[in-house]
Amino acid sequence: MEIYYDKDADIALLKDKTIGIVGYGSQGHAHALNLKDSGMNVVVGLYSGSKSWKKAEDAGLRVGTVADVAREADIVMVLLPDQVQSEVYANEIEQGLSAGNMLMFAHGFNIHFNQIQPPPDVDVTMIAPKGPGHMLRQLYKEGIGMPALVAVHQNATELAKQLALAYAKGIGCARAGVLATTFREETETDLFGEQTVLCGGVTALIKTAFETLVEAGYQPEVAYFECLHELKLLVDFIHEGGMASMRYTISDTAEYGDYTRGPRVIDEHVRETMRQILREIQDGSFAREWILENQAGRPGFLAQRKINAEHPIEQVGAELRGMMSWLKKDE
Ligand code: NAD
Ligand code: MG
Repeated sequence: MEIYYDKDADIALLKDKTIGIVGYGSQGHAHALNLKDSGMNVVVGLYSGSKSWKKAEDAGLRVGTVADVAREADIVMVLLPDQVQSEVYANEIEQGLSAGNMLMFAHGFNIHFNQIQPPPDVDVTMIAPKGPGHMLRQLYKEGIGMPALVAVHQNATELAKQLALAYAKGIGCARAGVLATTFREETETDLFGEQTVLCGGVTALIKTAFETLVEAGYQPEVAYFECLHELKLLVDFIHEGGMASMRYTISDTAEYGDYTRGPRVIDEHVRETMRQILREIQDGSFAREWILENQAGRPGFLAQRKINAEHPIEQVGAELRGMMSWLKKDE
């Protein structure tokens, strides 16, 4: 494992460079503000008419159109939603890249799946912070920093990795540690993690358990507490001290049920499904499906979003959370 810290990165490499941050959403605002506070020369690229234009200016940042920013900047960090990157790249970014520039990403999807093919004379790197933008900004302000991954896809200047690490230092990530990976490893593991555990696995597990209790006649409110609400309390222990630390806080009865019933829920059938999901990521089937879904105007995605928002667990949850914040304010 290769891991880099502040001492391994030289921010002076960026001193005479202009850094263009394209997009001012979750990641974009945090990268732009952290780099500015680190003394870098930052300019934010947006489409004209973007609601973020004034927000970025009010935060003291210089703003231009994506095409102007791509032309002016020496380093262009693409922080647009993954599904629009290839179009914006083709229309506005590509013509602004000149030899020796660096094109950067925070996720490898478009490079790994060949949706963006940069010219050979530019560096192509990734700094992928391991968490959402508002936390990246918050941790920077607290002087801590968020861990990140670094990868180099093209090393035209032979300085690509050093420049990327300097960027990581500028957004505060080198304080926490920057782990070396490849575009392929980051893309495949990121998709696999969000599909099987972080987003897909966890929500499906909660929903199925909730439905099983409600179908058996238990009160939805009680099912909500048991299957959803308490999850955070236990995950916090796992996050801070590992599974053993979570098991230390629960009863022996809960711990025995954990060892004997958990593997029956997540059984060999689930393991085989996970392997299949990984193969679909590796062979590009998932990427093709998602790219085509976007080209079709996202009918399936938007239908699913609506159906899931209407699930009884969301109704019960909204009521109970309303009650809980009322109780909190009352304290
Ligand atoms: P986001 O949706 O929060 O922000 C995207 C920005 O792009 C917004 O400012 C939006 O107005 C702008 N935009 C959208 N369409 C546009 C268009 N056609 N032309 C110009 N601008 C447009 O996105 P995000 O979550 O910050 O993700 C950016 C990148 O960071 C992605 O590659 C993502 O995978 C990666 N990433 C995200 C997270 C996270 O937790 N959000 C973590 C690590 C990496
Ligand atoms: Mg991700």
